[in-house]
Amino acid sequence: MEVLQRDWADGQDAEAVAAAAAAIDLDADEATCPACQGTIPAGSERCPECGLRIA
Ligand SMILES: [Zn+2]
Repeated sequence: MEVLQRDWADGQDAEAVAAAAAAIDLDADEATCPACQGTIPAGSERCPECGLRIA
């Protein structure tokens, strides 16, 4: 996956790559819900805004 992500990132501008990484990085302090864009705290299995299960 790391190689694929790097290849993809080569075609993107740095700001877009950083935004995408922040949205999908489950190791981050918090994540963004893909359904409602709400903030999901680290370690949470569900989005507190809409209840989407992410883990
Ligand atoms: Zn949500």
